[in-house]
Amino acid sequence: MEQRRPTTVRPEPSHRPDPPATIAAIATPAGRGGIGIVRISGGELGALAAALSGKQPAPRRAVVADFKAADGSVIDRGLLLHFPAPHSFTGEDVLELHAHGGPVVVHMLLGRCLELGARMAEPGEFTRRAFLNGKIDLAQAEAVIDLIDAETQAAARSAVRSLQGEFSREIQGLLDELIALRVLVEATLDFPDEEIDFLTAGDALGRLARLDERLRRVFSRARQGRLLRGGLQVVLAGQPNVGKSSLLNRLAGDELAIVTPHPGTTRDLVRGTLHVEGIPLHVIDTAGLRETSDQVEKIGIERSWRELERADVVVHLVDANFGVGEEDRAIADRLPVGPARITVENKIDLAQRPAARGETGSGVLIALSAKTGEGIELLRHELLNLAGWQPAEGVFTARERHLSALNETATHLAEARALSNRLELFAEELRLAQSALATITGGFSSDELLGEIFSRFCIGK
Ligand code: GDP
Repeated sequence: MEQRRPTTVRPEPSHRPDPPATIAAIATPAGRGGIGIVRISGGELGALAAALSGKQPAPRRAVVADFKAADGSVIDRGLLLHFPAPHSFTGEDVLELHAHGGPVVVHMLLGRCLELGARMAEPGEFTRRAFLNGKIDLAQAEAVIDLIDAETQAAARSAVRSLQGEFSREIQGLLDELIALRVLVEATLDFPDEEIDFLTAGDALGRLARLDERLRRVFSRARQGRLLRGGLQVVLAGQPNVGKSSLLNRLAGDELAIVTPHPGTTRDLVRGTLHVEGIPLHVIDTAGLRETSDQVEKIGIERSWRELERADVVVHLVDANFGVGEEDRAIADRLPVGPARITVENKIDLAQRPAARGETGSGVLIALSAKTGEGIELLRHELLNLAGWQPAEGVFTARERHLSALNETATHLAEARALSNRLELFAEELRLAQSALATITGGFSSDELLGEIFSRFCIGK
């Protein structure tokens, strides 16, 4: 009897998805270093590895290889690593070429990869592929860039926590509960004549309340993460010689002060960024906001005043020896009214007064000495307090996008509760809550959103 050959089901060639374009980039920073890495990702990279090095490296094993130019001359000797799909960062075939870290060598290697059919990777394209291939979700992809950009240990730790999926798991937990609730509601809608009242039996409103509570806890952790990432805009105002620079230096204390001028603002307006308990404080000194007749400068200064409106906190310094005088009041009147206000009476060492905290009609008053440091803790504490910072374990990095999605989810849940006696509207609000929540991990994301997120990456990541 004729043996039938087993049939393998293969899609017709025309139905097979195109293999991903092979992309390559230098993954290490520009400049000289011990090692420079070129990373390549694509459909099937065995042929490229062979053409480049004459070797077929075993999966995930480092092999020493001569990387060769088209004419057979050696560009460099280094390590070749092959991570076959799907067990790689991008989920595709990945090659890493570890060469000596000179800019010319790594550029020659990259050039050779391009000759062999790769194209230059776009910013964030490796991570974007990791997301599209389901290796990481959107919140994790964002955490990659947050980890790279982290300026403090606390920010790095929170980014790693998100990268490892802690934030995503919280979101997934919320989604699971929301979906379970939707199932109840949809069942009730589908079987309106059933005897059982699914909603009462399933304690729909109780579930909704618990979901809301859990959402609040996630929001508060995410908000801390956003603070760690984005920090606080602090405006420092006061007459000349009142001690603004001294206070800035004192606040920086033994914290690492990284002075980074902010793009888009007048140079002499901004002092830079310092960190208090890992939170970046972007301090703007209004000393640059002087009266001027120069038209160009005038426009810049007007723009700066508008920017001050968006500050989180205004710290207004006065001299403790004189209290709030006429000129101080003139400055105070010009300061934006939106942000929280702290009046600082500086130089208490001269005035021979103790450090203190009090309340005034327009905000908090703190008496301190920038020179001796007395009372500085009161100010630090107040700044963190106003920022809503509570030193907490388990903060995960988050951005405005996440917070607005959580807010939107909460709004739909509140609407759902208000409409709980109108079943179809109740169901619709729950559906909207779910789609808002799912944008965080990328369940429903538009191409524009993905473009926006990944364009902020560096090339090679
Ligand atoms: P700015 O013009 O507002 O930036 O003021 P500075 O920080 O340059 O300070 C002006 C002068 O006041 C300097 O001589 C400082 O040493 C002094 N100063 C600042 N803070 C204090 C303080 O708390 N106590 C005393 N005794 N002197 C201070």
